[in-house]
Amino acid sequence: MLRRFFSYYKPHKRLFLLDFFSAVLLAILELVFPVAVGYVIRELLPNGDWGIIVAACAVLLVIYAINTVLTFVVNYWGHILGINIETEMRRRLFNHIQKMSFRFFDNNKTGHLLSRMTNDLFEIGEVAHHGPEDMFIAIMTLLGALGIMVYINPELALLTFAIVPLILWLVLFFNKKMTVAVQRLLKDMADFNERVEDTVGGIRVVQSFANEKYERGLFMESNLRFRLAKILSYKIISMNNSITYMLMRLVSLFALLAGAYYVLQKGMNYGDFFTFLLLTNIFFKPIEKINAVIESYPKGIAGFKRYMELMDTKPDIVDAPGAIAVDQLRGDIQYRNVTFGYEGEAKVLRGINLTIKAGETVAFVGPSGAGKTTLCSLLPRFYELDEGSISVDGYDIQEMKLESLRRGIGIVQQDVFMFGGTIRDNIAYGKLDASDEEVWAAARRAQLESFISEQPQGLETVVGERGVKLSGGQKQRLAIARMFLKNPPILILDEATSALDTETEAAIQQSLAELSAGRTTLVIAHRLATIKNADRIVVVTEDGISEQGRHDELVAAGGIYSRLHAAQFATAAH
Ligand code: ADP
Ligand code: MG
Repeated sequence: MLRRFFSYYKPHKRLFLLDFFSAVLLAILELVFPVAVGYVIRELLPNGDWGIIVAACAVLLVIYAINTVLTFVVNYWGHILGINIETEMRRRLFNHIQKMSFRFFDNNKTGHLLSRMTNDLFEIGEVAHHGPEDMFIAIMTLLGALGIMVYINPELALLTFAIVPLILWLVLFFNKKMTVAVQRLLKDMADFNERVEDTVGGIRVVQSFANEKYERGLFMESNLRFRLAKILSYKIISMNNSITYMLMRLVSLFALLAGAYYVLQKGMNYGDFFTFLLLTNIFFKPIEKINAVIESYPKGIAGFKRYMELMDTKPDIVDAPGAIAVDQLRGDIQYRNVTFGYEGEAKVLRGINLTIKAGETVAFVGPSGAGKTTLCSLLPRFYELDEGSISVDGYDIQEMKLESLRRGIGIVQQDVFMFGGTIRDNIAYGKLDASDEEVWAAARRAQLESFISEQPQGLETVVGERGVKLSGGQKQRLAIARMFLKNPPILILDEATSALDTETEAAIQQSLAELSAGRTTLVIAHRLATIKNADRIVVVTEDGISEQGRHDELVAAGGIYSRLHAAQFATAAH
């Protein structure tokens, strides 16, 4: 895992080296002060030459000035390194998630994915910078201080260091505990985000059911779990901090005691004594730093683990090697023995055979849950077949480039997804580089022109989140306008007008009829009146395709369709 982590440093080699060497220099300069103090006391003070002492301090001043610059470099450029790595990871994660199939999004919650894009990666960014650098400064300073102390007085040094292994053991011990705690923290945070997304995203439903109290309960539950996870992690941090604090003071105290003993009994000079004392203090700084890293390091590790987990989830629907790009589809479709189920052994479709000629309009009718939507969503390869094959213009869809396949298929559904931009943005989604004229032309054909003209902002009118500022009919027209711009040879209309009142539906039917002219069209319809004129009607039931033919033929045949038709005709007549 560490290897993969460090691979992200590769493009930032120079920044890393700058950061790293500044840190090393900083660590070395850190040691200058105790040594200098010892030197002044030991050599310069007895001489009594004030001028030299001032000169020595002037040299120290210069060193501090350099230190200041280095501190800035390490802080600023070091963080830039972290931010760059974080940004790159976010880019890769987004690209990766975009490739995931419908099945993935069926099973993963948006809030969780969001959390991974933001919180988790933020923690990684922090560690990417602080991890190696702080660790390195700490170890360098530690070793440096150690070396000087051994040089001054090996016996005393060894005595003082006896406690170091214990400190290191504690550090590792708490580090492990922290990693577990943080993993839980990130998970709870993701759950929390999920909760917020649900409650706030569904606020209209919540309010209309007057279920605020219930939602507050769910929210508080998640909020409290998040709180507990945070408390746990701070408990570990606090225990670690206070115990190491005590150990460090113990070492200081011991150094004072033992040092004084060496001065009195073994003739150690005052200069060395001071250097020694100052070094024990410096020597603790790195341990404190390692301690601080303990706070952020497990977060980064946990974040990185979750990141890798997602990155390692292979997209299950991708271009086959040597996939063919088909520029202009005609729209001949053939299903051969298609069997498919969403989960486990339960199959939604079994052995479906269906041939649709280019330009034909085929309507699918049947009870809800029979698999009509599923049948259509297999065509753009949103899901992979279990058995059989589907081909378009003679090409197996598994051997076509996904992009060319999906560019050739347009889908209008019952609930239209609107992006939170303007009317123009939403129409032009069908052709991103469309000119204003093209957008207007599409709007006209979708009978949206007068509505848009009436808006004070015209095309630039903001539609609100998911198009809340539009009526169902307007959203549907927008989706149709979008499709005119996309201009696909194959069109899927999945209950496009089922949610609308009959009057609006009738009006929109005209636009839809114009839209489907000259295209292969698969219509799923609830109201049979809207599909009477289809070239063919296919009745889908739980057992698969039960009958097909023209309207009159099916009515005359007296099967399922004729019964459905009679039932709807009866209600319509009331
Ligand atoms: P229809 O469009 O004919 O009403 P669907 O194709 O939407 O039927 O659904 C067929 C069956 O597949 C239903 O039993 C439904 O519960 C199930 N189903 C639909 N979508 C999914 C999904 N994304 N994951 C799991 N099961 C699904
Ligand atoms: Mg459906």
